[in-house]
Amino acid sequence: MIAKVVVDVPTSQTDRMFDYLIPNRWEGFIREGMRVIVPFGPRKIQGFVVALEQATAVEKLKSIDDVLDVIPVLTKELLSVGEWLTEKTLCFKVSAYQVMLPAALKTKVKKEIHLVANHSELATELQSFFSDQQVVSWEMFSQTHLVKTVQKDIEKGLLEIMYQVTEKGRKKTEKVIQLSNKDGDLVSILEQVSERAMKQREVLSFLYKQNHPIKSMELLEQLGTTRATLKPLLATGLLIESDEEVYRDPLQGKKHPQTEPLVLTEKQQAVIDPILGSLASKHHEAFLLHGVTGSGKTEIYLQAIAESLKNGREAIVLVPEISLTPQMVERFKGRFGSMVAVLHSGLSMGEKYDEWRKIRRGEVKVVVGARSAIFAPFTNLGIIIIDEEHEASYKQEENPRYHAREVAIYRGAHHDCPVILGSATPSLESFARAQKNVYTLLPLSERVNNRPMPEVEIVDMREELRLGNRSMFSRSLLDKLKERLERGEQSVLFLNRRGYSTFVMCRDCGYVATCDHCDISYTYHRSHHSLKCHYCGHEEPMPKTCQSCESEHIRFFGSGTQKVEEELTRILPEARVIRMDVDTTRRKGSHEKLLTAFGNGEADILLGTQMIAKGLDFPKITLVGVLAADSMLHLPDFRSAERTFQLLEQVSGRAGRHELLGEVVIQTYTPEHYSIDLVKSHDYQHYFQLEMSQRKKAGYPPYFYMSLINVSHPELTKVITVTEKIVSFLKAELSENTMILGPVVSPIARIKDRYRYQCMIKYKNEPRLTKVLRDIQQHYIREMNQGDLQIGIDLNPYLFM
Ligand code: ADP
Ligand code: ZN
Ligand code: ZN
Repeated sequence: MIAKVVVDVPTSQTDRMFDYLIPNRWEGFIREGMRVIVPFGPRKIQGFVVALEQATAVEKLKSIDDVLDVIPVLTKELLSVGEWLTEKTLCFKVSAYQVMLPAALKTKVKKEIHLVANHSELATELQSFFSDQQVVSWEMFSQTHLVKTVQKDIEKGLLEIMYQVTEKGRKKTEKVIQLSNKDGDLVSILEQVSERAMKQREVLSFLYKQNHPIKSMELLEQLGTTRATLKPLLATGLLIESDEEVYRDPLQGKKHPQTEPLVLTEKQQAVIDPILGSLASKHHEAFLLHGVTGSGKTEIYLQAIAESLKNGREAIVLVPEISLTPQMVERFKGRFGSMVAVLHSGLSMGEKYDEWRKIRRGEVKVVVGARSAIFAPFTNLGIIIIDEEHEASYKQEENPRYHAREVAIYRGAHHDCPVILGSATPSLESFARAQKNVYTLLPLSERVNNRPMPEVEIVDMREELRLGNRSMFSRSLLDKLKERLERGEQSVLFLNRRGYSTFVMCRDCGYVATCDHCDISYTYHRSHHSLKCHYCGHEEPMPKTCQSCESEHIRFFGSGTQKVEEELTRILPEARVIRMDVDTTRRKGSHEKLLTAFGNGEADILLGTQMIAKGLDFPKITLVGVLAADSMLHLPDFRSAERTFQLLEQVSGRAGRHELLGEVVIQTYTPEHYSIDLVKSHDYQHYFQLEMSQRKKAGYPPYFYMSLINVSHPELTKVITVTEKIVSFLKAELSENTMILGPVVSPIARIKDRYRYQCMIKYKNEPRLTKVLRDIQQHYIREMNQGDLQIGIDLNPYLFM
């Protein structure tokens, strides 16, 4: 037998399958989706088996050296997803496979075979290995004919393979205890111990009634006894004790009170019916659930998932990383309990691996997670849900540059299951697709129980300044904050920045302090009284005078959360403020702690950055203030207006979700811009039309497709010549209607001493594009592998910096 192997060398010469001979002992054992070690030139390297064949045209085959898995880590479906990713994102095959696996599997790890059942149940050849130990190193078997037997017993659930991640990542076990003879009657069991051994008899009776294994610790606790009681019972074989795996619980064993499905409103029912239809008829369909915040989307997700589970199928729910709050997780765990696995970046490598393993083994049926959870190795998917589908974090900004939405639709088609994209402010692309019936639009335009959308006031800060108000709070916002304090209600203040202030500028000459390596303005950090570059991390003491004119009038400008907090305490000293930004939530669990404190009413005002824009659902929030609505509007990105509207709508949605009415105050220097003005009426449709006409005029998606090529190198002349060459090659190879823009210097001209140029391709129909871009990669491959040249190609860019 021949194995076709993709080797773990991400270069374009090696980006194909290589044939290897499967040694006799591994025939029938090696399967597609397993990782193997193969000789490659002078080295031995890792690879993925992607296909098995009877014959090959290659002469003088080398043999597979070692096998890393006993059960394939990639399912056949995921292998095909990898194939597709390679095409869609122009990445190397091996990168596509790697991105689908938990990090723990990418490190060098020791493998052990663990005994799960009684050793007498194992295949006869294996029994002697486990007669006096629970764990045997995989190396004992890997080079022998026993591998197939081990594999079979693993599949039967008698053995288990464990990858020892790190000491910290070790599988946790707990001792459980039970009667060895489960079928005997109590009298004959008790006859075997002395009548005076009261405690022993008590243990036996207890376990007899219990009728299933119980944690040894728990048993001792319940009966108020010690291990000494168990010893003789274990020694005579009346009781058996074994190790049972406990998963490291990322939520630290928190109990989730069970919740019941709510009776859907008529509007919700109308929206869920087509989804249930798709589930029942087992056909793939993509739905765009456009529902304002508080319209009951999550309840629809929950009930659609319940239906999928009822049919024995699984569910993936994607939630943006910053919305993956304990509150959010609780809604899913509350409904589906231990059937839910959670994958987010706060987990340790070992914890992530645990969750992944539960999915792979079919022990959970629902996964809730951030972007990469889209690769959850389920084999019988019934539904895929992407909440807040407009979020840019669903796009991965490194190779492979995939968008989770596209992967979802690809997998949904494979599994013949519905995909639900949910949002209060759908991405322009998705809404345009819904208009063309590529996606089925499911509108949910009212809040549950018809609670009104919050009233929005837009304050022109230029006008405030004209009237002599130099503070960062408009008079209106300040009045409303005071009102809330008097009424004992809560407010949320939102600022789209971090740190004490944004940049440092000389008031005399206008000089702005920038990083010497990145051409990016420094951020002032008060705690160190220093300047910090947020791209490379370089830090400098705050200068006393201007570098350019030596004036002493060098100050920080703009306002960060820290500065807002100071000003708040100055003008509203009685207000209790909780600040939530990157700096106050760095430690694990602090995010949750701050939110819980706010939920418990321990503060009047929650002040924060992006991370508070989502998910917050507290009944006492009746005021939301946005301090600088236009901070995003001027970024060099064609989606900046879209992001502004989405963010403002998102933030507004935090107010008045319950009985109390909500109000929103948006402070801005550009009140006339449609992305700000239309938040007042919460008019998505109108905003959509205006935004679409802008895109059409400027030739941007969704009217045109777009690709971005980024070139960087330590030498400026090199960057320019390479980018120029690429541009002229593109012009020669692509069709006339395609627009090729560039070379232009990137919005951030230098990062970490590397100069950066870019080139943009806008096109409607360009069947040769993939081939042409591959040719470019191929042409520069040697320079990229050895030298300083970097060429990044993004077929669907979301980041233009
Ligand atoms: P969304 O996800 O669209 O923001 P949610 O699902 O969070 O909306 O619903 C908003 C609130 O309304 C939640 O507190 C939820 O429990 C409640 N809710 C949702 N559906 C119903 C229903 N059918 N009956 C009663 N309350 C509901
Ligand atoms: Zn100066
Ligand atoms: Zn820097």
